[in-house]
Amino acid sequence: MSGSADEFSLIDAIRRRATRNPLVPLGIGDDTAHLYTHGHSGVLVTLDVLMEGVHFDLSLTLPQAVGRKALAVNLSDLAAMAGLPTAAVVGLVLPRDRGAALGEAVMEGLLSLADEFGVALIGGDTNSWEGPLVISVTVLGEPTGSGPVTRSGAQVGDWMFVTGALGGSLSGRHLAVTPRVTEGLLLHQTFDLHAMIDLSDGLASDVRHMARESHVGVVLDAGAIPIHADVDASLPPDGRLRHALGDGEDFELLFTLSPEDGRRLLNNSPSNIPITRIGEVTADEECRLRLSSGEVIALPSGGWRHQFND
Ligand code: ADP
Ligand code: MG
Repeated sequence: MSGSADEFSLIDAIRRRATRNPLVPLGIGDDTAHLYTHGHSGVLVTLDVLMEGVHFDLSLTLPQAVGRKALAVNLSDLAAMAGLPTAAVVGLVLPRDRGAALGEAVMEGLLSLADEFGVALIGGDTNSWEGPLVISVTVLGEPTGSGPVTRSGAQVGDWMFVTGALGGSLSGRHLAVTPRVTEGLLLHQTFDLHAMIDLSDGLASDVRHMARESHVGVVLDAGAIPIHADVDASLPPDGRLRHALGDGEDFELLFTLSPEDGRRLLNNSPSNIPITRIGEVTADEECRLRLSSGEVIALPSGGWRHQFND
């Protein structure tokens, strides 16, 4: 770090407050942290950077919410691998004129979410400059069960499911999202998950990512897609569906499993969050949408304005 007194006292405050974990014999305060793992299954690593002026606006958003989201997006990625998050490392670049107070508020938001999931804050770096706030968070975790659940394992004939409800997140929910870590772990424990991804770009786009990586196609049922209450209820049905398909930042889990496991899940879900069957995996490597009229169309991309006949 650059070494002003303020930054040292900020790091001291972070060190006192940091979430701890039995896997961390050495956390903040030395040249590196030391982290144990439970077994020999390797380490999952993910990083996301949030930049003021690009990803958030501090005149509209509390700094605590920025810190929370910076960790939440990483935990959502871990959740999508059915991973157990264990530790976080934070790169904090503060605008010089707003300095330590802003840093404390950002870290407070981050640490409250870290507490919820028992994620240890094991280190980082703090700098200041004439530019805007930038926060980079790296999360480390461990695979569980039979190993990480990838995007590439979807099989022809699989049923496709989604947790929660989609759309309207950008009106505020994205800042207070609870990553589906618990659901990812529970589902992986209970079923043979073939493929999984977290919904960050929007269902239509993330379905395509999974289909491409798995070399399969997907048919989604328009009428089955759960639409969040945050989507404007006064819109016509096609407009509401467009939000659910395209808005992004839902941070829900999209996954596939065999029809047999799918039936078991529908009969007896291990999760408190609603889980909905929204489609199936096909052999033709195309992504499609089945309308309630029975007509099957190409899956619209984010900016789509198609008028439905239903
Ligand atoms: P070094 O010069 O060894 O890089 P620093 O002065 O940058 O040490 O940091 C001191 C300690 O504080 C290190 O253990 C580092 O990991 C930790 N640290 C610095 N900034 C943060 C932060 N924003 N969040 C968590 N830990 C931090
Ligand atoms: Mg440093």
